[in-house]
Amino acid sequence: MKITKNNCLYQITFVPHFFPVNCYLVEEDEDLTLIDAALPYSAKSILQTAELIGKPIKRILLTHAHEDHVGSLDAIKKAIPDLKVYISARDNRILTGDLTLDNHEDQTPIKGGIPKKIKTKADETLKDGDQIGSLQAIETPGHTPGSMSYLDKRTRALIAGDSFQTRGGTAVTGDVKKLFPFPGWATWSKPTALESAKKIVTYNPELLAPGHGDILENPLQTMERAIHRFEIKMKGAIITR
Ligand SMILES: [Zn+2]
Repeated sequence: MKITKNNCLYQITFVPHFFPVNCYLVEEDEDLTLIDAALPYSAKSILQTAELIGKPIKRILLTHAHEDHVGSLDAIKKAIPDLKVYISARDNRILTGDLTLDNHEDQTPIKGGIPKKIKTKADETLKDGDQIGSLQAIETPGHTPGSMSYLDKRTRALIAGDSFQTRGGTAVTGDVKKLFPFPGWATWSKPTALESAKKIVTYNPELLAPGHGDILENPLQTMERAIHRFEIKMKGAIITR
């Protein structure tokens, strides 16, 4: 386990078998917001990190419903019974086992590790533009249909879930990187992911905090290059089809 602090943001990284998974604590005046719940054994380290900071965790915002992002949700809820749980309305369906698609969505199967044993229910579902403390919810579908990113309006830190990765090279989700292909393989819709990546750079993030990989400061140029690369790859895929 490794903790990396950047202003009001604490990145907690777990590295089981070279598969690094991040979750984040965001410091508010009185308390902490946890973003994602990493892996089933991660709860103790997350709670210890909060103790170290000296503030209570009041809420958890989930970026999406894959099992490497909700793994210790039940354990954390058990330790903090008044914890408020937030997830996008769309991925709440996946969390509760509904893998159906809506008519307007890309008609391709939802992929990745779908949690089957999570008992904790969301207290509130989120939509684009919702504010939770200093964080703004931004819908970034693609990795899953209801993937959500969170922008800290004080620092413009973007906690992007798996909409971008930096491990194995910075990439839009769905652009499979040889050195770390897992987020790409687990992506539901590449065209939707590309649209979301283009949307998210318009918020001018000053820091990119991904689900997998190191935090990237001043990420805009790198994100734009990643979008450009992915777009060219996808156009190539259409031509050769
Ligand atoms: Zn992930």
